[in-house]
Amino acid sequence: MAKWMVRILFLAVLACTGEVGAAKVRAEIQVARLDEDRWRVLYRFENSVEALQFVTRAGAFRSDGWLLETPGCVFEEGEGAGKLLLSGKARNSFSVLFASDSSFEADTYMPVARFSDGGRALFLGHLWGEAKTEQGWQLLECSFVLDGLEGDLTLLPALPAFGDPAYAFFGPQEPREHNGLRLLIDPALPAWILDTVEQVAPAASAVYRNELQLELTDRPLALFAAGMLHAAEGYSIKGGALAGQFMMHFQGRDLLEEQPSLKQGLQKLIAHELAHLWQEQSLDTPFASHLPWIHEGGAEAKAVSALTRAGIWSEADSAAFSVSMASACERALEGRSLKAAVGEGDFAAVYPCGYLLYAHSPVPVFQAWRQLASRSRQADGPYTAAMLETVLQP
Ligand SMILES: [Zn+2]
Repeated sequence: MAKWMVRILFLAVLACTGEVGAAKVRAEIQVARLDEDRWRVLYRFENSVEALQFVTRAGAFRSDGWLLETPGCVFEEGEGAGKLLLSGKARNSFSVLFASDSSFEADTYMPVARFSDGGRALFLGHLWGEAKTEQGWQLLECSFVLDGLEGDLTLLPALPAFGDPAYAFFGPQEPREHNGLRLLIDPALPAWILDTVEQVAPAASAVYRNELQLELTDRPLALFAAGMLHAAEGYSIKGGALAGQFMMHFQGRDLLEEQPSLKQGLQKLIAHELAHLWQEQSLDTPFASHLPWIHEGGAEAKAVSALTRAGIWSEADSAAFSVSMASACERALEGRSLKAAVGEGDFAAVYPCGYLLYAHSPVPVFQAWRQLASRSRQADGPYTAAMLETVLQP
């Protein structure tokens, strides 16, 4: 009895609604951590379902890594993220097993990020998608139930208003709170990375809060995982902002020693990803994915401004950054306009050229962004390239 009571405390529930207005199939997705690195996911649908179509690409994570426990189910690769056929007949439930180290492609979300203290962050977006019912394909409206190991704290990401649900956390560590942001920092991070996170996250958050005159709601979680630090040569820092969350994963032995250029890059990366959380909070609509230079360039410019204001970067650092962005932008454009380059599927120009749009304007980036958000709200729709042009005019 006592054990059951304890386990109940590890369960947490999150509703994930997907796109507003579409017809949906309700589902409960239970994610159980079986031991340190094995997982069982049990889907229970309200209606009978014949197949699932996933939304996020995951490389071989599902096709090779998933052991389908329900007899007769098959995974079919094809267009997009792949499809799971539920044994050729409609079912109300099915379950899969997988391990934390299942492979995935470099440009997709890492399925499970490891913390050195046994904590794990699992990407719920890989579990979500559309279901085929008698009425055709419908988005899943899911509630997630997390069942951790004894001693695990489980944390669900905040409800995404649009798009994929983010990472769920299982582990022994409690997050710490700074300016409405909850930080979960791997204790095994090398001292220079730990110092960088501790310095940049609160300082940049304070600048964003003051300059954008916004408090973060839903207490977003910032995760810094280093459980695979010693697993490889070289280094990689993988991460990004998700709905109400920010994840960063450090891997590779080159990160053990501080290097000035790496440190400066990391400072900017942390400030950039944090800027997205405030951008998201300031808007009533999702980022306009066909105009990536507006939010990516905006995050770059906010990051540089925040680092300079906080005294972490000198004016000379910021000027040197602008010079390097100018040559990176020119190289990436190859004589095309930014819009044309993005239209051709070439995103190398998005960050440097987007940054320069803000950096070259006499209007300070935070003022420009406040006006952009306000125009988008007045128009009751996403921001546009014309709105950006207007707000960057003095
Ligand atoms: Zn970004």
